[in-house]
Amino acid sequence: MKYIDIHCHLNFDDFDLDRGEAIERCREKGVGMIVVGTNIEESKKAVKLAEENSDIWAIIGLHPTEVQNEKFDYEAYKKLAENPRTVGIGECGLDYYRAEHASKTLQQEVFEQHIALANEVKKPLMLHLRSGVGEAQNAYKDTLEIIQKHAKVPGDVHFYAGSLDEAHEFIKLGFRLSFTGVITFARNYDEIIKSIPLNMIMSETDAPYVTPAPYRGKRNEPAYVTEVAHKIAEIRGESLDVVLPHLVDNARKLFGI
Ligand SMILES: [Zn+2]
Repeated sequence: MKYIDIHCHLNFDDFDLDRGEAIERCREKGVGMIVVGTNIEESKKAVKLAEENSDIWAIIGLHPTEVQNEKFDYEAYKKLAENPRTVGIGECGLDYYRAEHASKTLQQEVFEQHIALANEVKKPLMLHLRSGVGEAQNAYKDTLEIIQKHAKVPGDVHFYAGSLDEAHEFIKLGFRLSFTGVITFARNYDEIIKSIPLNMIMSETDAPYVTPAPYRGKRNEPAYVTEVAHKIAEIRGESLDVVLPHLVDNARKLFGI
């Protein structure tokens, strides 16, 4: 494994026509991947993919924008969480971006249930955090309070988009930060990528979303994580020989793979 995509949705219908080929394109480049669930059905699909492929691992959970559609069935998720191919709990967290999402109270309650499950099975958290407008809608600040109080396991903040100060707070609590293809075309992540320790950064695609340059306009896929990894090295001004093995190692350590 030369690269790892620590957050993709190869389980989604977007890959129904070419899932096998997408996996092959990863193997050609030495890309391993972690497939992330967003509800019970997608979580089951993630675990099945991980059971069938030695270079795929699963993360299971109920996405914060789905908590109004599905009740978090702790026992059903626990069964998936205990599967040896499951390496984390999520994606879970807080999404204040749109008013039609569930209330903060419900989102926080379901988030805390995910944390309880992660603590129970001793597997790391995969966090999805998205703020709304204004300090009262800062999902990063609320999450720091919640994990400080409840989490006994480390984790990753997927698609990190908080401030530099918050980045350091997460790192202090043992949370890694991962970046998507957005860093290939938006420059507002550069300062954070440069300032945090190399052993706390991870690479992801969030495929089928946020396709990196030079593939923008096409569906994203996990094989494109090579672009993200190369860009992390470029932004930091470090060589690929140093950065690529670190990105794989960081994932191996956090997820025990
Ligand atoms: Zn995702």
